[in-house]
Amino acid sequence: MEEWTVKVEQSDNKKEKPDTEQLEFGRSFTDHMFVMDYSEPVGWHDARIVPYQPLTIEPSAMAFHYGQSVFEGMKAYHAQNGDIQLFRPDKNLARLNHSNDRLCIPPIDEEFVLKAIKQLVYMDKEWIPKAEGTSLYIRPFIISTEPYLGVAPSHHYKLIVILSPVGAYYKEGINPVKIAVENHYVRAVKGGTGEAKTGGNYASSLKAQEVVGKQGYSQVLWLDGVEKKYIEEVGSMNVFFKINGEVVTPALNGSILSGITRDSVIEMLKYWDIPVSERRISMEELYQAYLDGQLEEAFGTGTAAVISPIGELAWEGKKIHVNEGEIGNVAKRLYDTMSGIQYGKVEDPFGWIV
Ligand code: PMP
Repeated sequence: MEEWTVKVEQSDNKKEKPDTEQLEFGRSFTDHMFVMDYSEPVGWHDARIVPYQPLTIEPSAMAFHYGQSVFEGMKAYHAQNGDIQLFRPDKNLARLNHSNDRLCIPPIDEEFVLKAIKQLVYMDKEWIPKAEGTSLYIRPFIISTEPYLGVAPSHHYKLIVILSPVGAYYKEGINPVKIAVENHYVRAVKGGTGEAKTGGNYASSLKAQEVVGKQGYSQVLWLDGVEKKYIEEVGSMNVFFKINGEVVTPALNGSILSGITRDSVIEMLKYWDIPVSERRISMEELYQAYLDGQLEEAFGTGTAAVISPIGELAWEGKKIHVNEGEIGNVAKRLYDTMSGIQYGKVEDPFGWIV
């Protein structure tokens, strides 16, 4: 393949940057975006960085109707020594291609797109906030753009990368959250799209979230879509439990998203010689462990919060209280080390920083 290049059109109308103190997740966007088109028979082409701007897309574009779209989420961090750091971005681009495959979207050249992302982040580096815990969220996504209402894979796509400065997830310290175990709605089923990062999964999760939100819970714990017996994920995070000294997370079974934080947590626990296993775990088993006094910690993992401790779970009228509503030792150590690596405060023995 010929060497690809990224055309650059500088914005001559630089926007005002939001106040770091007031940063909300995903509300403001930087001066530039990366765009690349796909059409047949050329394939992916016309890679360009242009001023952040609205798109012109036909109302008949397929993404609007049948949801053939995928996305990713990662962050750029301002390190202590002034470097700009990405955390395992190759994993995000590999996962994007995995999602592409599931949604019949043509694969991207991961190395090229990573280079383009680095170039974009570098161009908008003034937008990376510097305050403790803040970062620049990177959102690559692909939409199907062919103007056609037939239910079939599109022949035209756009890959776009936008950047958004985000505030610290934990402004007032890490407070364990209350979770409702979801017994009615399901997020995903084996053979479905739960393993892919595609909009439909998130659209179908909103209702459950709305219902439990009104009851004072911050997220739902998703169970498997068939028997509603086995634990899958928590909100839009992967989930871990420490039971009698062993850290357990549901095995990737075809309906769970393979989180990059999840993978990093497993590697880190192994590095520390803390027992960790990926296996099927039911609510029955979790409840029994709680009754036996063996449920020591529970937490979610994801790019947004890194580690989000769970203080309480409500399940079929019963309450499970975890670690007296305090963050557990393992969760705390994972949070400190992982975020320490991301901000260049802790050495990275894994080679995760780019
Ligand atoms: N599960 C779901 C459904 C998610 O949306 C996310 C966020 N990408 C995760 C898990 C966590 O993945 P990661 O650690 O790669 O952010």
